[in-house]
Amino acid sequence: MSKKDFYTVLGVSRTASQDEIKAAYRKLAMKYHPDRNPGNKEAEEKFKEAAEAYEVLSDTEKRQKYDQFGRAGFEGMGGGHGGSYGGMNMEDIFSSFGDIFGDMFGAGKSRGRKKTGPEPLQGHDLQRELEITLKESFTGTKQEIKYHRFFVCESCSGRGMPEGVKAQSCTKCHGTGQVHYQQGFFMYSQACGACHGNGFTIPSPCKECHGQSRVKKLDKFTVTIPAGVFHNAELRISGRGDAGVFGGSAGDLYLRIHIKPDPIFKRVEDDLECSVMLTYPQLVLGAQVEIELIDGTKETVKIPKGCAVGERIVIPGKGFARLRGKGSGSLVIITQCHIPKKLSPETKQALLQYAEKLESPQKEEGYIMGFFKKFLG
Ligand SMILES: [Zn+2]
Ligand SMILES: [Zn+2]
Repeated sequence: MSKKDFYTVLGVSRTASQDEIKAAYRKLAMKYHPDRNPGNKEAEEKFKEAAEAYEVLSDTEKRQKYDQFGRAGFEGMGGGHGGSYGGMNMEDIFSSFGDIFGDMFGAGKSRGRKKTGPEPLQGHDLQRELEITLKESFTGTKQEIKYHRFFVCESCSGRGMPEGVKAQSCTKCHGTGQVHYQQGFFMYSQACGACHGNGFTIPSPCKECHGQSRVKKLDKFTVTIPAGVFHNAELRISGRGDAGVFGGSAGDLYLRIHIKPDPIFKRVEDDLECSVMLTYPQLVLGAQVEIELIDGTKETVKIPKGCAVGERIVIPGKGFARLRGKGSGSLVIITQCHIPKKLSPETKQALLQYAEKLESPQKEEGYIMGFFKKFLG
């Protein structure tokens, strides 16, 4: 045992306040803590000295006794404990950490609350994915989904044990769920084997859920997907996650939506885009064409006279419903010109006649004007 004066050990005056003593000890304990000085015997010794000094000086009664009689006042006090220091063994030293440092060294953590029985715990949130078509995302849809999740055990109404049975605090770990053991200078803790870390045991658990309070089953229901839902949107379905443990509230289901690409239609922000194939005369003269939209409805579209290829004809309000905010995006129709690969002799004749009458194009900014030599076909 060290014979140093406790005040000297902590580096405080004899008139130091409790706060000063606590602060001084805290500083020394952090500096010399074995976790920070592995294998350093000198640090270990200083750490023990500080703990011993603090144990006495932090207690008004012991401090008075020490001031009056010095160490002699404590002689024999720790005699009964093997490996003790001034009446303290290592577990006591680590114990005091819980009070002073909280979880700083994990010492407080290992001393969990004592449990006498099951406590409600919220169920986990779950995540599932659902693939729908672009059309379904446009119109909105109802889809049946199936997945396994925990349900409250009906047999015991989520108690984990039949009516009349009472849970008991685990005697091995005293309800903390953790057992501690010392190896050399260090304290270790691990989940209690007798109660599997629960801190309690159930003498005759529910046969259906084996005392777990819930059972895994297939859930199957219809979910309404709103019109305008976008790719990778996540819908929260309240209470469809895992049931809580021992009466805790259920988690939620997060349903991530995947949208299969469509061969014709495309979503760009809230607009619905498609390309319409037109003939050269339709583009030149202007036309009214009827097109079938993604939801199967028909729309008459006016192609203006002298319409270029790649023109965007915008029809407001016919796009996707805005999931956030009001209204809908636009329907955007992009013009394309159909170029026939093969012509009948009559069509070819007509085209050549037309070409003869066609005026040469005027020079336009940004384009090369080719010098025409002859037709190939
Ligand atoms: Zn236990
Ligand atoms: Zn049950």
